[in-house]
Amino acid sequence: MAVTASVPSRLPERSSTAQPRAIDASRPMRLSVLGATGSIGTSTLDLVSRTPEKFEIIALTAQSNVKELAALARHHKARLAVIGDETRLAELRAALEGSGIRAAAGADALADAALEPADCIMAAIVGAAGLKPTFAAVSQGARIALANKECLVSAGHVFTAAITRFGAELLPVDSEHSAAFQVLAGADPASIDKIVLTASGGPFRTWTRDAIAAATPEQALKHPNWSMGAKITIDSATLMNKGLELIEAFHLFPVSVDKLDCIVHPQSIVHCLVSYVDGSVLAQLAPPDMRTPIAVALAWPDRMTAPTEKLDLARLATLTFEPPDEDRFPALRVAKAALRRSDTAPAVLNAANEIAVRAFLDRKIKMFDIAALVEETLNAAERQGAICPAQSLEDILAVDELARFLAYEKLSGY
Ligand code: NAD
Ligand code: MG
Repeated sequence: MAVTASVPSRLPERSSTAQPRAIDASRPMRLSVLGATGSIGTSTLDLVSRTPEKFEIIALTAQSNVKELAALARHHKARLAVIGDETRLAELRAALEGSGIRAAAGADALADAALEPADCIMAAIVGAAGLKPTFAAVSQGARIALANKECLVSAGHVFTAAITRFGAELLPVDSEHSAAFQVLAGADPASIDKIVLTASGGPFRTWTRDAIAAATPEQALKHPNWSMGAKITIDSATLMNKGLELIEAFHLFPVSVDKLDCIVHPQSIVHCLVSYVDGSVLAQLAPPDMRTPIAVALAWPDRMTAPTEKLDLARLATLTFEPPDEDRFPALRVAKAALRRSDTAPAVLNAANEIAVRAFLDRKIKMFDIAALVEETLNAAERQGAICPAQSLEDILAVDELARFLAYEKLSGY
């Protein structure tokens, strides 16, 4: 199935807002966590450790932190632990000695881990590196608790088509999308007027353009509300994250691009607002703690207890909202353009942004260079005819590779 440049108001391959099938709650949920040592991975396992009798941990994966992976695998009595860096297999085996836990390493082993029979797979690898393992998880028709937004950003139509083809169940973990999912459950798509994602505004929300231009990685990594991995924290500082999330929302919910919007809400209490055609606006509220959306994805359609702070609106007293400023946060404009351009533009956007964020963290470029580098890469890809319909994961991976090459080429000019 080809992805067309125009965006019809409702794409058949996108998931509906209907409730997913329930998981058999009468036995422990067989759960695998891809990216177990990361921010989402450890929050997931923190929830698991509070009611261990309700879960059976199948596979845990990480890229390079053998010590933490082995400790998590032992603590949760996982059956399999996989490290992405294949040079560390001996180290992992040694760390797991006597535990009976199988050890494996390398990119193929990560995808194999996702194929181990499970009821639910938490897809929490960061970046396009998560595509292959998450697609592998989809192919076993399990519940996919999706934190890895790159699957929807880079491979949206291909990914949602795979979900349908394999009868898998997609539950968003990104907080705004979990919020929309909860608010929308069962809604008739024709009754939706607008889906508005909130953004905290990040650490530079009140900064001048000149101050943002000179910002350091340390300043960008100081997120006011959320504790997250480094990549998404920088994306929150540029507002690229909100752009990626609009693309993610487009593939998750049956609305046209025009019905998606974002608003800055510095307190990060309201995560998404859905306006209906009759003027009603429904929202989901929760303190900014990822254990809430993770718990929703694990327990849906039931609810499980999450040890998060209780929402105290009287203490908070004020919730404020403001429009995003695309002059100070140009990455949002660039991402919105990629969403409208469709085809493989979001895959190029994501790949170039991954390179740009790494370069910013390595102090090779400044804050505004991130959006500029991504935009230049998109233009270069367009000139090469690489913004085109994608039919398969292989198509997406090829475009991702080309975009990285083009972005590195541009980067050498900075
Ligand atoms: P993180 O950097 O804290 O953790 C990433 C995990 O992926 C680690 O376990 C790491 O070992 C693994 N990993 C890294 N590179 C890899 C590679 N090349 N191959 C295989 N595994 C690799 O990231 P995070 O903040 O937990 O984010 C994970 C995903 O969830 C991202 O897609 C992010 O956008 C999304 N997300 C995160 C949050 C959050 O609060 N952290 C919120 C919404 C969405
Ligand atoms: Mg989010």
